[in-house]
Amino acid sequence: MSRIFSGIQPSGELHLGNYLGAVKNWVQLQHQHPTIISIVDYHAITVAYDPELLRVRRREMAVSLLAAGVDPNVATVFLQSAVPEHTELQWIFNTITPLGELERQTQFKDKSARQESVNAGLLMYPVLQAADILLYRADLVPVGEDQMQHLELSRVIARRWNAAFGRGEDYFPEPQAVLTPTRRIMGLDGQAKMSKSMGNTIGLLETRDEIWAKLRPAVTDPARVRKTDPGHPDVCNIYHLHKAFSPPETVKHVYEQCTTAGWGCIDCKKVLLESMDQELVPIRRRAAELREQPQRVDEVLAAGATACRAIARQTVADVRERMGLD
Ligand code: SF4
Repeated sequence: MSRIFSGIQPSGELHLGNYLGAVKNWVQLQHQHPTIISIVDYHAITVAYDPELLRVRRREMAVSLLAAGVDPNVATVFLQSAVPEHTELQWIFNTITPLGELERQTQFKDKSARQESVNAGLLMYPVLQAADILLYRADLVPVGEDQMQHLELSRVIARRWNAAFGRGEDYFPEPQAVLTPTRRIMGLDGQAKMSKSMGNTIGLLETRDEIWAKLRPAVTDPARVRKTDPGHPDVCNIYHLHKAFSPPETVKHVYEQCTTAGWGCIDCKKVLLESMDQELVPIRRRAAELREQPQRVDEVLAAGATACRAIARQTVADVRERMGLD
């Protein structure tokens, strides 16, 4: 059966963009395919960071994933740095990856433009991503459209390594994208993708009051200046959040009320808050329970690392043997 690999940065608590854009999809897919989910802490250290905070954020990410429905009985969850074969395979892939290919990666260009000094880790980031995926010889990678270029590089690296060392066999499958069904979730400013660095997020585990404090002033259809102005739901982020959280009959009602100026945006947001509560209250409850049982989270991560190391060691042993490094 096709194996799925996905990674997420240990940015602490998940926000709704991560949850709707990735994690909810994993929760579905874990019942259809063997699924490996890595909290990619080696990726997180390519920018300046606080070690203590990283430690806390790795754990919080594990809590968020488990609370959101990632089930360690069917999926494997682990910390990337607990499986050193990731960096070993990355080194091997570095040696077959032209510098120009890495310098052309859009994310590298964007990130490096925002920094005074660019470290080599930032440039090699997509090679580590390729190693993350290919180490498990994963067939499928759930991604958003903004990750397609990196996934393509993973495919190129797999192809190149197979051609050089595969002895006529496609040892590494070329991983295919599973595009996330939810459209890109915009931030509360309505300007950019929801992202922690943009400060426009709603945390998955925030309380109802905290969520309302953010939702209330959130940007809606800019053409809707007065309550009597009919709105355009398709350009409104609140409507898209309704589509993610509200039942279909509510979404229909929202559309009608908006386009006929039947209600104001605050009314609309109050209904959204109720819909969000339906889904998020059980997640918050599970997260609170997990925070009370840190040893349970440690056990899940340790079991995940053990399972992943078994696969990773075999892959690296095969690679070493084929490359004359055994
Ligand atoms: Fe958006 Fe709802 Fe306001 Fe329409 S009524 S603009 S969907 S918040």
